Amino acid sequence: MAQDTIFGKIVSGEIPVEILAETERVIAFPDIAPQAPVHVLVIPKTTEYADVTELAAGDPGLLAEMIGVAKRLAEQLSNGEYRLIFNNGASAGQTVFHVHAHVLAGALEERSLV
Ligand code: 5GP
Repeated sequence: MAQDTIFGKIVSGEIPVEILAETERVIAFPDIAPQAPVHVLVIPKTTEYADVTELAAGDPGLLAEMIGVAKRLAEQLSNGEYRLIFNNGASAGQTVFHVHAHVLAGALEERSLV
């Protein structure tokens, strides 16, 4: 179960962001600290899932919807090819415990990950 996080405040509109894509259940917005020419976060609006393992078990259709949004963004903002990263757990680099996909695209020359 996700806790109150900054992404919950983004979903509720308490913290404004530039929304790059939105469906009934998903929004996407630029990462505040981009690690690539295109670095977008795709998140479900529900605060129910802390990480992708929980999401995959609880609502695989929602995970597929997030990946569909990621693909469309990569087509709009780059050449359609993209890197998709989910950090799972603090020791794996996760800092926000509201499941989110990092979508990285555009001239990804380095292998460094988010
Ligand atoms: P994680 O480390 O949990 O995989 O990724 C969290 C991401 O959220 C980081 O890349 C960080 O830059 C981004 N982030 C944290 N706070 C904010 C915020 O207030 N707005 C936006 N747009 N991104 C944020």
